[in-house]
Amino acid sequence: MVVAAPVVVAVPVVVAAPVVVAAPVVVAVPVVVAVPVLAVPVLAVPVVLAVLVDARHAILFEPVVIGPKTLPNRFYQVPHASGFGSRKPRTQAAFRAIKAEGGWGGVCVEYAPVSADSDEVPAVSADLWDEADARALTLAADAIHGHGSLAGLELFHGGASSPNGSSRLARLAPSQITSELQWGGLAKQMTRDAIARVQREWVEAARRAAGAGFDIVYVYGAHGYLMTQFLSAVTNRRSDGYGGSLANRGRFWLETLAAVRDAVGAECAIATRVAVHGDSGVPGAGGLPGIGVDEMLALVAMADHLVDLWDVTVGTWPEDSGTSRYYPEGHQRPWAHRVREATAKPVVAVGRYSSPDLMTEVIRSGAVDLIGSARQAIADPFLPRKIAEGRLGEIRECTGSNICILREETFRHVGCVQNATAGEEYRRGWHPEVFGQATGADRPVLIVGAGPAGLECAVVLGRRGFRAVHVAEAEPEIGGRLRWTRRLPGLGDWGRLVDWRAVQLGLLPGVEVITGRRLAAADVLGYGAEVVVIATGSSWRGDGVQPGHPSPMPGADPSLPHVLTPEQVCAGKGPPGRRVVVYDTDGYYVAPGVAELLAGEGFEVTVVTTFPVLSPVSDETLEGDMLRAHLHQAGVWVRHATTITGIAPRPVAAGRQGEPGPAREDGPPWPVLEDGPPWPVLDDGGHLLVQGDGEPLAVLDDGGPWMVLGHDRYGEPWSARCDGVVLVTQQVSDDGLYLELAADPAALAAAGISALYRIGDAVAPRLLSEAIFDGHRLAREIDSPDPATPLPYRREPAGLG
Ligand code: ADP
Repeated sequence: MVVAAPVVVAVPVVVAAPVVVAAPVVVAVPVVVAVPVLAVPVLAVPVVLAVLVDARHAILFEPVVIGPKTLPNRFYQVPHASGFGSRKPRTQAAFRAIKAEGGWGGVCVEYAPVSADSDEVPAVSADLWDEADARALTLAADAIHGHGSLAGLELFHGGASSPNGSSRLARLAPSQITSELQWGGLAKQMTRDAIARVQREWVEAARRAAGAGFDIVYVYGAHGYLMTQFLSAVTNRRSDGYGGSLANRGRFWLETLAAVRDAVGAECAIATRVAVHGDSGVPGAGGLPGIGVDEMLALVAMADHLVDLWDVTVGTWPEDSGTSRYYPEGHQRPWAHRVREATAKPVVAVGRYSSPDLMTEVIRSGAVDLIGSARQAIADPFLPRKIAEGRLGEIRECTGSNICILREETFRHVGCVQNATAGEEYRRGWHPEVFGQATGADRPVLIVGAGPAGLECAVVLGRRGFRAVHVAEAEPEIGGRLRWTRRLPGLGDWGRLVDWRAVQLGLLPGVEVITGRRLAAADVLGYGAEVVVIATGSSWRGDGVQPGHPSPMPGADPSLPHVLTPEQVCAGKGPPGRRVVVYDTDGYYVAPGVAELLAGEGFEVTVVTTFPVLSPVSDETLEGDMLRAHLHQAGVWVRHATTITGIAPRPVAAGRQGEPGPAREDGPPWPVLEDGPPWPVLDDGGHLLVQGDGEPLAVLDDGGPWMVLGHDRYGEPWSARCDGVVLVTQQVSDDGLYLELAADPAALAAAGISALYRIGDAVAPRLLSEAIFDGHRLAREIDSPDPATPLPYRREPAGLG
């Protein structure tokens, strides 16, 4: 197939000019302030929300008065961590400014410890201990103001939950308690002097925040930190005026609020974050100990005269930032909205809202005044503008996978699976909606593979003005690994990654997607493309190769009925009997997903994992406890810290050699059996007697005809019977096409192919966010001197020098 001669099309207009309709609602028209230190390109068109095209959503664009300040609309980016804090001020400023530019009327930076005994090291926070910190954070406030939005700072004290890794100070708390978030010692009970000192430091930090230009200053009390530790009768065991009755337990909070208000209340709006929690019914989701809804509402009523904005969360962070796997859009409503019972002041609550109709309904209900967002504002900083301009199909909906949190918590640099530009605004100068016209855009491009990487690359190339981009996909459906991943229990919203890109590609006249076409090297050479991008992805290997075991596992052959890969299970290959072992050395979502899928289909499932806890990566996305509780409820058994090294037919009787497995050319059929101790011992009924450290297994009784064999964490032999094994051990790049093409530069030249690249899992299997980033990066830099090598990014020096 030959690519059609390039058709000259208009450069895609990414920010559509607003269509004027009858009775337009004019919204905020801020003064644009230049922020020269930032290198982020700004939109050529004015960055104001000038006209609202769809009157249905007009209520979202009403200004809201909070104390001495006025928010230009009801879109409010609540405080959330980024990994930038006050240590990377330019990165911080550019990251937040994009949201203001996209129309968020209030934009906050993250938690800001008021003093050194709330030191978050090794995490990164917006410390506000001295003037140098204040100067650093001024950049963010200025940048946010540059787009007409209000800037907020979440002053904070972690109390017993402060790591104090750098300051080495004793943790503070109302009583000598330990925090479930920290190890290595208990907190020091705060004396009255310490209480007064922390309140003084809060006030000093509030003055610094006001001086730095922040409009909204928080007294942060949610998520189990110092305020909540005082409020909870479980953690506050004092008998003085700060313990006992609710009025006493709330005294520290109210006094601090009053002091902060006295100091800066005339120039700043005072916000407080509270947690209103009830039983959400989600297994594994804990609330805050000792604080019921009614007590929290009573506190709101007591403190109402001191507060201009109530910022309402629910439960603990894993519940508040609940993943889409367990929580739908707006899941906090039943609890968060109860705050209206106690206050008439403005209320903001989050809900991973991406639907303008639902947002409108929520505001109309009167329960809240602002649409709060952290994750959706990361996925699409331009959501408000898109609603204002009626470009609803362009809203990049959050997947609720919490990759942002994983990246921030693990790598100290926020990122987003949907929005590859998140966190890259300063260091790479990327803007989520502005794509410069590429040089050489008339070169025809062939992308092989319509997985996440290939789709993202195609969208960005199309937006950069490429006039003939073909995406060839072997399967009848686009999406790559998401074709099956999105069908795992609870992961439907991950499909938004594919759906959003499919819609955008439809808007780009220069890009065409061809499905059901598997290309061999000769097809690529004869295609007529000048630039070829290989995005053929990766597969789960079925041969049992795993970390520390580079050779195939004896008996692991996915062409056999009882050995399966995750892709095969999702494509409908069922284990041949009821009892299934899912073997996991990957540690993330695939093994639990396949286990839950099979359990839901009536199989008896045991996950055997090399990790000491099931799916440790899910702890980084805040869903580990819930995931494990769900699997437990689904009847899935887990065997921890165990390595499987072979799959064999079960022995016919106690202590006897088993039947030989399929012949192998590279050695004896079952070396594990020959090297190890005798066969596992069966009892009189033919049931396996547990060896090793003896955790029970669902598959033991009346087990199937196959055995998985290996060892426990101490090297003791271990085995179990089953009917089938799903191997979630390792992926392998599908890089054969790339390597074949790359090996013959003369053939490429003869075919007129001037550039060959590969992206995504075809380079190396990685997180979805990294595959999408890879596709985005190549397209952004396709006209750089050497597009295969990422351009260096700006590294921010510590401090401002
Ligand atoms: P990534 O995350 O890097 O995009 P995926 O594995 O999710 O990787 O997707 C790769 C896609 O490439 C799959 O949809 C697969 O069907 C497709 N693909 C693989 N090889 C070819 C080929 N030779 N021709 C066309 N499509 C291919």
